[in-house]
Amino acid sequence: MVNYETVVGLEVHMQINTKSKVFCECSTQFGAEPNANTCVICTSQPGAIPILNKKALEAIIKTGLALDFTINKQCTFARKQYFYPDVPKNYQITQSEPPLCSKGKLAINVDGKEKVVNITRIHLEEDAGKLVHEIGSRKLSYSLLDLNRASVGLMELVTEPELSSPQEAFEFLTELKNIVTYLDTSECSMEEGKMRCDVNVSIRSVGQKEFGTRVEIKNINSMSGVKEAITYEVQRQKEVLESGGKLVQETRLWEAQEGITKSMRSKEGALDYRYFPEPDLVPFNLPDSFVEDLRAQLPELPKAKKQRFMQDYYLSDYDASYLTSNRQTADFYEEALNSSKDKKMSAKPLANWTSTELSAKLNASKINILQSPVSSKNLAKLVDLILNNTISGKIAKTVFEDMYEKSADPELIIKEKGLIQISDESEIIKICQEAIIESPKAVAEFKAGKERAVGAVVGLVMKKSKGKANPRLVNKILLELLKA
Ligand code: ADP
Ligand code: MG
Ligand code: ZN
Repeated sequence: MVNYETVVGLEVHMQINTKSKVFCECSTQFGAEPNANTCVICTSQPGAIPILNKKALEAIIKTGLALDFTINKQCTFARKQYFYPDVPKNYQITQSEPPLCSKGKLAINVDGKEKVVNITRIHLEEDAGKLVHEIGSRKLSYSLLDLNRASVGLMELVTEPELSSPQEAFEFLTELKNIVTYLDTSECSMEEGKMRCDVNVSIRSVGQKEFGTRVEIKNINSMSGVKEAITYEVQRQKEVLESGGKLVQETRLWEAQEGITKSMRSKEGALDYRYFPEPDLVPFNLPDSFVEDLRAQLPELPKAKKQRFMQDYYLSDYDASYLTSNRQTADFYEEALNSSKDKKMSAKPLANWTSTELSAKLNASKINILQSPVSSKNLAKLVDLILNNTISGKIAKTVFEDMYEKSADPELIIKEKGLIQISDESEIIKICQEAIIESPKAVAEFKAGKERAVGAVVGLVMKKSKGKANPRLVNKILLELLKA
């Protein structure tokens, strides 16, 4: 038996988050009426001249800077040609050499170990339009053309073949998406096609220097799909080699429904794009200040934010990682913290509420934290109410249920339902005395030295007070009464 290792390289297209397209002023809005967002440039009318969107250029450079790339100040564009039914001009404007960004890197965490993955390049490219073959579930006997997406700006990122498992590829994409959404240079939603990934996979026997024959897999439209497609493809390649067969360099399609890859075309018939310089966009040099200004504008990135959360809020590595795993969650947490009465006291409980109760609810309703019915302010209020002993942690959980259902303010819920905690000692003493009388067995056990027996009496006090007695006081008072 040969021992194989997996080699994976990724090509990721991310839609640049700009209001208008990259070579014209049309809107990039998702879901518009077919062909509503088009003009003479993006419909490829003869003689129409592309005009570069400066914001798109800035977005790519920011992304490059955040990933430790060298920025090439020389800006050149090329035509990549083939027959594109969805790009009437039959070429795509892209970059060949040099790309805007060369040699970057991204650190990922797999099984508790850090691995730095080298990224070859990021370059700018315009998107193609879309052919429509069905409307709803009705298959058409003809095809329709929607050019809304034509000329929307993309950044194409290509990694070195350095990933060595489906999990590493998954972590790479997750981390990339996290950084890019922090930068806001792309929304990276795979569901809306704003992040698309081609996966190159090969295997080789452990210790072998040369790469094995690679297969490119297209048409993967979810993060989990990336993992499944690589897992399937590695197994397929092993089986081909082990049965004495030979792998061919080819492009395969991921069929998510069936969970398999299917051959699409072999690389023998590989296209020669005949790149040549785009005559309508003359090369130019970016001034140094252009790049340096963008560097100065970079926001705090996930790694730095995590460090700061640990340092300033005394959060554990685990809590800080969870909270900074996406920008929306980090922002929500900090907003909550900033509106709380005592930041120092609230930091840890707020982290807990966000990562457990709230996240469980959001997952169950399949919404993200931006759509949370519980606002950051109200969550902070809830924690304040626990900290100042207005309600117990247990009651807080039922209050939270209402807050989530009705988007309500915790103070109102507590008042309406009469849930304010009883912290009046004389009242608690009264209930404790009743409970002691009603629990002769537990009391006898306690007096015989079984300290744990007090739990039953505490339970009864909580029951009698409908959960409202301050548990700390109940414990203290009961022990005093029993020991007296
Ligand atoms: P192409 O333009 O034909 O797709 P590239 O040189 O741009 O070719 O490479 C595309 C991707 O393939 C890169 O992400 C690279 O890391 C990856 N790659 C190259 N060789 C291998 C290999 N043997 N196994 C897996 N991935 C590979
Ligand atoms: Mg490729
Ligand atoms: Zn246009």
